[in-house]
Amino acid sequence: MSSTSKLGLSETYGAFINNEFVPVRGPTFAANNSGTGEQLARIAQCGKPEIDAAVLAAQKAFPAWKATQPEERAAMLLQLAAAIEADTPRLMQIDSMDIGRRLFETKLDHTIAVAEYRYFAAAAVVHEGLNRSIPNGYMIARREPYGVCGQIIPWNVPAIMTAHKVAPAVAAGNTVVLKPDENASLSTMELCKHIAKIFPPGVINVVPGFGTEAGAALTSHLGVAKLSFTGSGEVGRAISHAAAERLVPVTLELGGKSPNIIFPDIEDIDAVVDNAMFATTYCNGQSCLAGTRLFVHDAIYKEVMDRLVAGMEERVRVGSPFGDDTILSNLVSEKQGKRVLNYIDIGKAEGARLLTGGSRVDIEGHKAGYFIAPTVFEARNSMRIAQEEIFGPVLSVMRWSNYEEMIAEANGVRYGLAAGLYTSNLRSAWETAERLETGAVWINRYFNLASGSPFGGFKESGYGAELSHATLDLYTHLKSVTIQTRVDPPWFAPKAAGK
Ligand code: ADP
Repeated sequence: MSSTSKLGLSETYGAFINNEFVPVRGPTFAANNSGTGEQLARIAQCGKPEIDAAVLAAQKAFPAWKATQPEERAAMLLQLAAAIEADTPRLMQIDSMDIGRRLFETKLDHTIAVAEYRYFAAAAVVHEGLNRSIPNGYMIARREPYGVCGQIIPWNVPAIMTAHKVAPAVAAGNTVVLKPDENASLSTMELCKHIAKIFPPGVINVVPGFGTEAGAALTSHLGVAKLSFTGSGEVGRAISHAAAERLVPVTLELGGKSPNIIFPDIEDIDAVVDNAMFATTYCNGQSCLAGTRLFVHDAIYKEVMDRLVAGMEERVRVGSPFGDDTILSNLVSEKQGKRVLNYIDIGKAEGARLLTGGSRVDIEGHKAGYFIAPTVFEARNSMRIAQEEIFGPVLSVMRWSNYEEMIAEANGVRYGLAAGLYTSNLRSAWETAERLETGAVWINRYFNLASGSPFGGFKESGYGAELSHATLDLYTHLKSVTIQTRVDPPWFAPKAAGK
């Protein structure tokens, strides 16, 4: 039995519309194991016809879904969470093969996704509108779902991304057409097998394919009432244009180049260094949240850097996603691998000092995989490697002593997604958190995200926070209904003749 048949994968996946996989007739693309190159399945390269059919299915399902009570929607989201939880041992292996991330992380992805479906099940029930009394009556502002949501996600954390999009949208009473990324569709297509057993047909539809075909057809579709996208700034802009053209609301979660700031008063240097390493290597560096700019105070610079470089070399084991002691595994694709190596060359050419890493690592049995050694540069904030999102395990370190200059540099990028800082001084922590121009600030622990923490960017990192009950506001519009208990004369009653 091959590894893929043991995982219960189908040979081919068509679009998932109305709770059924559409038989594949047109072109397909391969879903390959990103480390070994083995083909795992083939996936329909969908385009406008499938998007049209999926949007139609979602439109038809919308009135009945909108009319369900939040408790019913919550019950289904809870069922989906339980199904994912039970299936995690299989789904995490599928993701590890597909995108190359180690099992510890792909398991965590599903744990986070399960928590998010549960969170939005609860939030759906208590999500309320506004109200106030008026003379002789009452004003009630109801929250109503938009209709069909078009959602497009990237490849780095497919289980979490699917939950980020689907959970709030359906919790609020919308129906969905989701396009997964062409590099990481498999676990989402497998999720559809669970969805089919739980949700009414047409509520959640998944159309795989390429961005310029299926993605573009979805963003420009007249039947889509709300768009939501996570991915690159370049595509985010195109989607924002498409949304503006049709005047539909859009949520965008784009890139990041997050600062991670070490103050001189930290008590536990090892714990802080571990956070800095994790911020760089989690997701093999392919996270928009990665803490890729480390600001280390001059007073502890040498001590931090010695431990950081030693930690990267000795403790960040590079290996197969399935290896027990692997910390860093392969990047998602050759394209991504070449992009990261190119940035390493750019860093060297810019005069950044390479302290460790900087090259591809060969791992036996994984010829196709791009494994990049954890890479640390001493850099300047103005360098391209410190300004541009690399999406690989590459860290730029800057030394600081002047607080104001450090804050200016920490904010001195186009992005504003997240930031980390480490100090035992409450005042430094709070004041710095206030000054950072980012959608999230993590004090004394990086990636400290829980369901309920609003997650969204400032500046070119996008707009519209996900992951919080406030996200339900973004998936609904307000309709005010004003009731009077009796008919009063209009505000500007015409005077009767002769009076
Ligand atoms: P990355 O650089 O991280 O691969 P992209 O922004 O290119 O991110 O892709 C993220 C998602 O956007 C993917 O699902 C991709 O298919 C989709 N996409 C790419 N181009 C377009 C487009 N022109 N219109 C709509 N979706 C697109």
